[in-house]
This record gives sequence, C-alpha cells and structure tokens, in this order.
Amino acid sequence: MNLLFIYSFGAGVFLILEALSFWRVQERYSRRVRWNVGMAFLGLLAIRILGMAGMIRSGSGALWDKIPVLLQFVFGFLLLDFIQYYVHRAFHFFPSLWRFHRIHHMDQGLDWSTGMRFHFLELVLSFWVRAIFAYRLGVPTQVFFAYEGALIFAELYTHSNWKLRPSIEHFLQRVLITPSLHRVHHSQNEYERLSNFGSVFSFWDRRFESLRLHCDGELQLGVRALKDEDYKWISLLWLPFQKGPSEK
Ligand SMILES: [Zn+2]
Repeated sequence: MNLLFIYSFGAGVFLILEALSFWRVQERYSRRVRWNVGMAFLGLLAIRILGMAGMIRSGSGALWDKIPVLLQFVFGFLLLDFIQYYVHRAFHFFPSLWRFHRIHHMDQGLDWSTGMRFHFLELVLSFWVRAIFAYRLGVPTQVFFAYEGALIFAELYTHSNWKLRPSIEHFLQRVLITPSLHRVHHSQNEYERLSNFGSVFSFWDRRFESLRLHCDGELQLGVRALKDEDYKWISLLWLPFQKGPSEK
C-alpha cells in the first residue's frame, strides 16, 4: 500500500468535491494548504527514515492464518481502529502529547488539508504504536498497511469541507466518523473537543461515551490562546518544544 498515493488520491478527490460550492459546509477562507501538505510529506519521510515499517512482518500470528482473508481484514481493521481511538485520546489527555497534537487543532478552518496537518513526530509516534501492536498481535502485513491507507483517507474525508445530505450523514454516523462529527472535535470548547476521538468507526465513541453529535452553540475552530497566523511553518514544528503553558 503506497501511502503517498493515498494522500495524493484523497487530496484530488476532496479538492474537486470542495470546489463545488453546493457541496461545501462553509465558504472557503484564507488557508495555508501548502503548509499542511508539507507536514504530511515530512511525516511520511520521517516514517520512512526511522524505518518503522520494517517492524511489520507478515503472518507471524498462526491464529490469523486459520481465518479467511476477509475476516482477517475485518478483525484487523477493528483492532487497529480501536488502538487508534486510544492513541488519539492519549494525545489529548497527556499534556506532553497535546503539545504536538494542538498543532493539528490550531488550524483556523477545516478542509481536506487539515487531515494532513500533523506534527511529524505525532505521525511517527502514532504509527509506531499501531505497528508494535500489529506486530505483537500478528496482524498480517497487508491488513496493517490497508488500514494505514484507510486511516489516511479517513483523515482527509473527516476534515473535508464537503457537505453531505443530512440523511446520508446520519445514516453513516451509525458506523463511521463523518465530517460533521469530527467538526465537533475541532471546537475551541474543551468539553466539545474531548469528544469524537474516532478515526474510521464511530462505535468506539458510542461505546466509551465520548460521542457528541452537535456543538452547543456556534462552532469556534482552533485553539483559544494560540493563533495560527502568529506562527510560521518552522515555528509551528518547534512549538511543542517551546516553554510556556500547555495551552488548552
Ligand atoms: Zn484531536
């Protein structure tokens, strides 16, 4: 699974959908798309260089070999998405991890490029956690990388400025995280931000009581005391290491 291809393909799909005004959630605003895309490239490069992918070896779990391939994908996706749900929670719960994840939340608007805007160390760390679990539990290599591809596409989709018909979105929300659910997670309001941690499936949030369908008032995006426009690209990457309050 070529992760760079998934990024490019997803970006192309949502660029077209967002360009059609009747499918936009909100009007377009001044964006720093190049910066967000640059972060994704840096993240992929970091994963490559640090050689995390080399940890994944195929079929180490004899148990997996005994079940049909289709079920390998079903169980693998559920397992890895459950792990990712808790990885995301951890990035909000621990102040040292929030320092990295807040760069993603500082984006003043939401579109497909926000789904690429992660500090490269966050991308490496979360990939590492999933890879270690996959390796220890014997998840087949093709299942692991298929999930990684699905996760990238889901990140672009759930951040996209793409308006679905409410009836379709409500239907999808029973199983999947949708853009309107994920927008609640990008609220400045901490109570709203600490909800909807899921990446692909919505039932983890439902099961662990972190699902929130709507904001109380008008949605305010970003992180309250950190204005995105005050930071240049390099200073954003350096922000987690700067002294100062761990801004909520
Ligand atoms: Zn988050």
